[in-house]
Amino acid sequence: MKFGGTSVADLERIRNVARHVEREVKAGNEVAVVVSAMAGTTDQLVAWTREASMMHDAREYDCVVSAGEQITSGLLAITLQGMGISARSWLGWQIPMRTNDVHGAARIEGIDIEEMDRRMSEGQVAVVAGFQGVSPDGRVTTLGRGGSDTSAVALAAALRGRCDIYTDVDGVYTTDPRIVTKAQKLSRIAYEEMLEMASLGAKVLQTRSVEMAMVNQVPVQVRSSFDPPEGPFETQDHNYGPGTLVCGEEDIVEQQVVSGIAYSKDEAKVTLLKVDDKPGVAARIFGPLSSANINVDMIVQNVSEDGQRTDLTFTVADDDLQRAMAVIEEAKGDIGYQDLMGSTDVVKVSVIGIGMRSHAGVAAQMFQVLADKGINIQAITTSEIKISILIDAAYTELAVRALHSAYGLDAE
Ligand code: ASP
Ligand code: MG
Repeated sequence: MKFGGTSVADLERIRNVARHVEREVKAGNEVAVVVSAMAGTTDQLVAWTREASMMHDAREYDCVVSAGEQITSGLLAITLQGMGISARSWLGWQIPMRTNDVHGAARIEGIDIEEMDRRMSEGQVAVVAGFQGVSPDGRVTTLGRGGSDTSAVALAAALRGRCDIYTDVDGVYTTDPRIVTKAQKLSRIAYEEMLEMASLGAKVLQTRSVEMAMVNQVPVQVRSSFDPPEGPFETQDHNYGPGTLVCGEEDIVEQQVVSGIAYSKDEAKVTLLKVDDKPGVAARIFGPLSSANINVDMIVQNVSEDGQRTDLTFTVADDDLQRAMAVIEEAKGDIGYQDLMGSTDVVKVSVIGIGMRSHAGVAAQMFQVLADKGINIQAITTSEIKISILIDAAYTELAVRALHSAYGLDAE
């Protein structure tokens, strides 16, 4: 069981979490509970490290920002004990959750689960501080923001259990319910689809946790911590439970062609006007960007009419726009172009579904829907199970709503 920051935001909510744990214990399960820091705590800790010094030592950053989870794990253990349930807290280094030494974004290398597993089989609930690990040097590491999802999936894999993620939403939706009121909760979604949704801005699960679940075939149930702990739970999926099950595609019986529509506002567009159209020019543009560690997502290059000059557009994350522009300006002499433009008024809208692999016409339909609404497409990328387009940010809601109904996802 994993509980996010809003689910452990104060003592009252921690007591609510303890009742969810109690239910599972009484049902005869061996339980490990992973907790996040109280909502807002990690942001505050990050802010303090920056205020102390912008150029801080990453090992000390981890020492500070991992602290929120130490508090909630101890508090939950105390609360469970108060209810007569045997429990103890486990910090990352105590398990130990072994990671590499990339402080701030460490990767899990292994979990020595034996002692924890043994105590769990004796009936003790393991309350684990999420987000934390220990480096080969014995220093505290953290797994990147949102990393307690990954702690939970990694533990579930090591314990060969299932992973229930309790959060402030009651599942994964076909799109963002805040902009499409007809969005529907999915009872199941395939790992690969969830991976696309997560990396495209549906912030229910940390992307890396989904990757890890997929590789280890851990079933992940996303559900609400605000459901009454004693149930009964409303469920669309009688073979499983409330919320949304993230699972292998073979476990999805009624496969839709399109499962969801995601959008991401965290995009910026860079256009180079009148670039010399000659061999090697793309390498001279994208080489320096890659050296500067800037990820490029979509790329559009026109064919020049005269064979001499062409326009080229690409997208980067919002945060990288200024740096990307600077890199391209610096390489101007080498690349050869006339003008450079940057804009953040763009949004990426994506249609996702594993059914696309075996269905033709999904892209054509998408383009038609947008054309009918008079929305201009500025860039396109596709993968086997996803089509993404870049449009003017002003049309986000219109586009998402129109696509959601066109693919038959609207609730009745
Ligand atoms: N507390 C950490 C964060 O806010 C980890 C997590 O909540 O998953 O990023
Ligand atoms: Mg989270």
